[in-house]
Amino acid sequence: MSTAENTIQLVPKRKCGGCNVCCHSLQIETTGLVKRPNERCHNLSKGGKCGLYPDWPSLCQEYFCAWRALPDLSDEWRPDKMNVLLEFSQENFPPPFSGRTGFRITILDKSRVRSNYKLATFVASQIKNGVPCILSYGNNHGENPATVFLNVALQRAVMSGQNKAISQEILKAVNVCEKMPKQKTIIEDGKIIDV
Ligand code: SF4
Ligand code: SF4
Repeated sequence: MSTAENTIQLVPKRKCGGCNVCCHSLQIETTGLVKRPNERCHNLSKGGKCGLYPDWPSLCQEYFCAWRALPDLSDEWRPDKMNVLLEFSQENFPPPFSGRTGFRITILDKSRVRSNYKLATFVASQIKNGVPCILSYGNNHGENPATVFLNVALQRAVMSGQNKAISQEILKAVNVCEKMPKQKTIIEDGKIIDV
């Protein structure tokens, strides 16, 4: 989990509401909380709220997914509704994208990708604008999801302008991730290590 409160401005009045995707999906390592990826945080109550509130870890307080910061994304884009977790990302993108801020797009439900034309439109628009996009998929307990860089793989589909073709290519990327070996994690001495 990385935080973005100093670099992004939140959409006024937009709240997480019933979403708690980040409390499940993300790996968290901070004072008082170590959680593996794709693992429900043990502080999450049955009702889906943080049991540590109002003293929950500062890392959690400062984390916001990109939906919280992009006013053009409708309420349907809330991660638990869209089944997609969108995050700003400054990863090690390949040239000529190195150093740019892009998006990490974590697919939460593969079965919803084929007909998700909102996702196709968003990804196509980012790729057209030269914004790097990484797709991330893999929901296995305690494993880091695999990733595929989309900008090159989707270029032809994006040029076609057809959402159906773009969605199919996104689904192909998900399938590639599914076949990739995943990095398993364990917690040892209060730290997450890859095994
Ligand atoms: S994934 Fe986004 S909307 Fe959902 S709880 Fe986390 S910050 Fe809030
Ligand atoms: S400590 Fe609270 S906010 Fe942080 S991941 Fe756990 S349930 Fe979510």
